[in-house]
This record gives sequence, structure tokens and C-alpha cells, in this order.
Amino acid sequence: MSEATASATARAGARSVIEAIAAPHDGPVPFSVEFFPPKDADAEARLWRAVRIFERMNPAFVSLTYGAGGSTRDRTVRIAGELATETTLLTIAHLTAVNHSVGELRALVGAYADKGIVNLLALRGDPPGDPLGEWVKHPDGVEYAAELVELIRDLGDFHAGVASFPEGHHRAPDLVADTDNLVRKLRAGAEYSVTQVFFDVDDYLRLRDRVVAADPEQGAKPIIPGLMPITSLASARRMTELSGSTIPRDVEERLMRAAGDGPEEDRAAIRAVGIDLCTEAAERLVAEGAPCLHFCSLNFAKATSEVLDRIGVDTRGAFAAV
Ligand SMILES: Cc1cc2nc3c(=O)[nH]c(=O)nc-3n(C[C@H](O)[C@H](O)[C@H](O)COP(=O)(O)OP(=O)(O)OC[C@H]3O[C@@H](n4cnc5c(N)ncnc54)[C@H](O)[C@@H]3O)c2cc1C
Repeated sequence: MSEATASATARAGARSVIEAIAAPHDGPVPFSVEFFPPKDADAEARLWRAVRIFERMNPAFVSLTYGAGGSTRDRTVRIAGELATETTLLTIAHLTAVNHSVGELRALVGAYADKGIVNLLALRGDPPGDPLGEWVKHPDGVEYAAELVELIRDLGDFHAGVASFPEGHHRAPDLVADTDNLVRKLRAGAEYSVTQVFFDVDDYLRLRDRVVAADPEQGAKPIIPGLMPITSLASARRMTELSGSTIPRDVEERLMRAAGDGPEEDRAAIRAVGIDLCTEAAERLVAEGAPCLHFCSLNFAKATSEVLDRIGVDTRGAFAAV
């Protein structure tokens, strides 16, 4: 796809995330949902069940992650295209720099534009295999997400978002460097950021304060908090291992109390506490003026919809005939 075509597609295409979160919405705050590309046909059927349920709840947007090292490239592009063209959902595609040349990145942006996707989350990506391993730049690629934002913007009228990290990114030497990097990405043209999942709302509020203090103009751009209802100890631990984020001690204690001290953990009790914790965080974020709540759904609708229901989003009828 030529740059001129991409530009024309982008102009004619979907709303931006900024417009979507500013639009009228049901409930106390707009919300959005993150999906990941399924591995097989069963997982894809499960994804589509969740998509159709969430579609009835009118999220501001949905996003689709991009597999480490481009491993799910074809599937991701296909599914993102289907989300954009076969549903009513505003779709953001995640785009990672890892293991891609600039030529491949341009082709990917073009493939998304062909499907009418103009909102891209510009990410560096983690090394395939071990997310905490050494990051090696593709010889013809880009080094940091800020460069990817510039590349996306040079290609046409696309809308770029970036990642932000309430606890600081695990490779940043300190929170000052982490904040500087977020500001750099926003100055490069990112319109908003979506945070890593966190469990301590104070971390989010401190991030927001740091960005405003570092650059009031960039600090005015939305920082969309990432939430995930914990439904099992294993999934919570896996998530924190992969992302480098932490579970605060009080949260862990509540989960461990729910797990009980029998030979088997009490899974129903853990799930109930996970929903409580996520609801409490969501309520506080709404009170603190968060612009949108972004839920990592893991391609399931039930737990997130329980949280949404409890904060006052109308989820009635969403599960009908799915
Ligand atoms: C909301 C969200 C969605 C995500 N989706 C995906 C996904 O779909 N697929 C996937 O593989 N991963 C995903 N990730 C993970 C992400 O790719 C990793 O966390 C990655 O390690 C960092 O990406 P970034 O875009 O923040 O990188 P960058 O902003 O490039 O930062 C990476 C590190 O480099 C440092 N840095 C940046 N610029 C400079 C500079 N000029 N000089 C020195 N240091 C610098 C930063 O401080 C940081 O420590 C997601 C993360 C989030 C929060």
C-alpha cells in the first residue's frame, strides 16, 4: 500500500482513540478491552464469544496485542482486520518494533490501513522467549518506541498511542528516566498512553503527577490505566513475571487468605477477591478522573463484565444467546 493510499484510508477511516474516549458513554467512565491473538481454532472461537459480549456493552475501543517477535504476525493482522470490519468496535492494533525491519513495519502499517485501522499502539516489544532477556535491535529496524511513533506518523494520518509504566519500566534505571521516556514518546506525537497493568492505584496517580511535572503540555494527554481482574494465583503470578510489575503485599495477603490453607487453593474465593480488588481500583480511578479504564480480558468476558457491572456500566443482555 502506498503512503498516499494509507493517508487517504486514514482520513476516511475510523475515529481516533481521543475522540472515542471523549464521546458520550454509558456508565461512569468509558472503558476499553484488550484481546490477544488466539493460538488455534478453539481459542479463536472463545475470543469471538468474548468480542460479541463486549460489543453489546459499547466499549470506547478494543485493542489486539502483537505477539513477541512477530510470531503471530499473520494471525494478528487478520484478526485485527476482522475486528475492524466485522464488528462495530473501534480497533487499535498493537505494533512492536522487535525483530522487524523498517520496511516490514511500514508494510504492517499499510496492511492495517487497508483494513481501516488508523489507531496503532507503538511499542518496542520484548525479546521473544525471555521478555527480560537482552534486547537486540533488528539491523534495519528501530531501537525505541519513540522512533516507531515517528515512523507511524510519517506514513499518514494515523493515531499513535504508547505504553506507560506506573511502577517504571523494568529496563529504566529510575523513575526520572522512565518519565523522560514517556514524555519523549508523547512529544514524538503519541496522543495518549495505556499503562501496564497495576494493582496499586497510587502508582498510577504518581505517574500522572510525574508526567505533568515533567511537561505540563504532554501531561495533559490521557494516561489510560490498565486493569486486570485476578481470577487465579497462577495467572496473576504469570502476568507479573512477564511484565515486571508487582503485586503489593496487602493485595497478595488478601489473595492468600482467600486461597485458604487446605491442600487445594479455594479458586472461587480467589476469583471473588480478584473481582473485589479490581472493582475497588476501578472505583478509585473513576473518582480520580481516569479518562477510560482499559481491561486486559485474556479473551474472557465474564470477570471484566462483573467489574463493569459493579461500577455501574449496563451489562444486562450482553450475555444473551452467546
Ligand atoms: C499497554 C501495553 C501493551 C503492550 N502490548 C504489547 C504487545 O502487544 N506485544 C508485545 O510484545 N509487548 C507488549 N507490551 C510490552 C512492551 O513491548 C514492553 O514492556 C517493552 O519492554 C517496552 O516497550 P515500550 O514501547 O515501552 O519501549 P520504549 O518506550 O522504547 O522503552 C524501552 C526501554 O528503553 C528505555 N529508553 C527508551 N528510549 C531511550 C533512549 N533514547 N535512551 C535510553 N533509554 C531509552 C526506556 O526507558 C525503557 O526502559 C505492552 C506493554 C503495555 C504497557
